[in-house]
Amino acid sequence: MAETRETVILGSGCAGLTAALYTARAGLKPLVLEGHEPGGQLSITTLVENFPGWPEGIHGPELIEKMKEQAARFGAAYEHALLNSVELGAGPIKLHTSNGEIETRTLIIASGASARWLGLPSEQALIGHGVSSCATCDGFFFRGKEIAVIGGGDSAMEEAMFLSRFATKVTLLHRRDAFRASKIMLDRAKANPKIEMRTNTVVDEVLGVEDKEVKGLRLRNVATGEKSELKIDGLFLGIGHEPNTKMFADKIDLDDEGYIRTTNNVFTTWKDAIVPGVFACGDVQDRRYRQAVTAAGSGCMAALEVEKYLDEHGQ
Ligand code: NAP
Repeated sequence: MAETRETVILGSGCAGLTAALYTARAGLKPLVLEGHEPGGQLSITTLVENFPGWPEGIHGPELIEKMKEQAARFGAAYEHALLNSVELGAGPIKLHTSNGEIETRTLIIASGASARWLGLPSEQALIGHGVSSCATCDGFFFRGKEIAVIGGGDSAMEEAMFLSRFATKVTLLHRRDAFRASKIMLDRAKANPKIEMRTNTVVDEVLGVEDKEVKGLRLRNVATGEKSELKIDGLFLGIGHEPNTKMFADKIDLDDEGYIRTTNNVFTTWKDAIVPGVFACGDVQDRRYRQAVTAAGSGCMAALEVEKYLDEHGQ
């Protein structure tokens, strides 16, 4: 087996790459495991206009590439590998990956959260071409256009209200007639004159694949069976996110939705006691802000704690 590493970072989104930059500059030669969604959610976003320092905006994949390059310049290494299981306990942390076993003294979990999608081939083909899961990232591009939001929870209400600032009309589509959203959010959305709600409605197909831009939706009313088409320019998914934490379920404390419960921003716990050397940052432990810049900030914090931990436990 290869020598024990100082630190391994799980995930190569904004949080993981910022942690890589800081740990690399501290001389810790971090290894970043890129996982199944290299670059994280930014890699499927178009123009990012709210990351400080880019007055004209920067495309998500380009921002990720630049972050990778920046960390690599100081010695970060990257590997495409999926984590199958992890052993935490006395001695080095053992990671069983699709590329073999890795031992490390510290671990930064930055495995993110993945947006839920409907899973329709037409929806998948149009991601980044009018289909989005992030209203704050992409809403601005739909000024003066008609859009649809799918979902019946608080996220969908929030997205619909946010998007109504730009769009001329927002149609909110929900698969049942009862909403999961809190009353206050639902009432606000209902009171918004630009938002029209259609319940008992599911999407069978997103139209526009041949033109590489969303043109409309093929809808079905599940109560009546009636089929219809809705002309729109953009489709936003507000059906929730899933944190990528399955392999940690019985090793570190997760909240009731599977997000890592951190204490003091980035420390992980198991049965409420700190897990030594294991830190978490970014969307995997944040369901509130979910911004590139907040993910980067917590990546920095995790890296500084790794440095401190290694200092305190002898290099
Ligand atoms: P959520 O509460 O789980 O709601 C997801 C919604 O998407 C549900 O209405 C669900 O329908 C629908 N859905 C799921 N899969 C679907 C599919 N395949 N096709 C069609 N519809 C589908 O998720 P969320 O709205 O992201 O909220 C997550 C948590 O964050 C909640 O605790 C929420 O209160 C909180 N949050 C709070 C705020 C706020 O207070 N400002 C904002 C956003 C989120 P069903 O109802 O039929 O299952």
